[in-house]
Amino acid sequence: STRRTAIIGAGIAGLACARALDTGGLPVTLFDKARGVGGRMSSRRLPDAVLDLGAQFFSVRDTTFRHAVDSWHKAGAIAPWPVSLWSAETGSWQRHEDDLERLCGTPSMSAVTRHLAEGLTVETETRIEHLEGCAGQWQLVDEHGNRHGPFARVVLAIPSSQAHALLGSHDESLAAACETVIQRPCWAAWALFDAPLPALPDVDSDWQAVRINDPRLRFVVRNQLKPGRQDQGESLSLLANLSWSEARLEDSEETVVEALLDAFQQALPAGISLPEPSALGAHRWRYAQPDVFAGGEAVNLDYRLSASGLALCGDGWRGPRVEDAWLSGHHLGEALVAKSI
Ligand code: FAD
Repeated sequence: STRRTAIIGAGIAGLACARALDTGGLPVTLFDKARGVGGRMSSRRLPDAVLDLGAQFFSVRDTTFRHAVDSWHKAGAIAPWPVSLWSAETGSWQRHEDDLERLCGTPSMSAVTRHLAEGLTVETETRIEHLEGCAGQWQLVDEHGNRHGPFARVVLAIPSSQAHALLGSHDESLAAACETVIQRPCWAAWALFDAPLPALPDVDSDWQAVRINDPRLRFVVRNQLKPGRQDQGESLSLLANLSWSEARLEDSEETVVEALLDAFQQALPAGISLPEPSALGAHRWRYAQPDVFAGGEAVNLDYRLSASGLALCGDGWRGPRVEDAWLSGHHLGEALVAKSI
């Protein structure tokens, strides 16, 4: 028999859970299908630029999260960003001012999750496809048919519909809970330019990000103006609205980039033209952000822990932000430690 916990998904929720278990002296192994950790906080590395295509920044409301964030700050993994935030509507730009502190990973968003993963056992490029229960222990089977385990517990730190598929008939109450959480899709386009964007009248020349009021496009950021990325040229991420993304889910990358660049062009002040991009693309997030209203009570539960030894955590159980995902994983990890004493 073993005390080891398996965590499927090394996004911020799975990593927060793993850190809490590790701190509580419990052995843990993380599995992720991707090449690295980070999930929706990972960054795309191109030859000439690093692009954040998922979370762009995060904010802090909860004091437990504040303690963790302070330690990431000390480790040099995050910095304030954006400090020059704007709002645009049909050509009219205004500075967006509020008291909210916004932070991002440096030199890329994935620095946060890389920092959290330090010293933990992480099996990357391992997509878990089945769970097998045997004598109160669990085995994980990956896409190549390799078995991992046994484990006393398995945490599914993945979006609800992916968790639902893995749960199968192993735990009907957790499977039913997954059906109450809907994750909405989001297209994230990117474009590189050989020259900087033209200066905009009455807007700081080093504006960092702009919220756009448009049915297609919601947010544009300049990756080269994120902390630690001075060496790259003009490199935009363009995030689409969720309902627009839903309706365009099966569109081609090309159509999506074109529509989002067109929306950005329309948001620029009159007489300003976007230069021709030197490279472009788009990433489709199928499970980008939870629809917090769909879940009703379920989203207020923070995480789900079952007598079967299976448990669920992630942003969907709490809210649509990095902070929610971290808190969900952290609270589950602490609950598992408390149970094992
Ligand atoms: P994820 O990060 O999705 O982690 C799940 C992990 O599980 C992934 O790494 C995946 O590869 C892995 N996985 C899935 N299935 C399997 C399997 N079968 N086997 C192995 N591994 C598997 N939040 C903010 O606070 N501020 C923002 O500005 C912001 N903007 C966003 C913009 C976009 C475009 C998106 C997509 C999200 C944004 N968010 C933002 C939300 C934030 O990114 C998420 O809430 C948070 O990162 C979710 O973390 P998680 O650990 O719950 O899930």
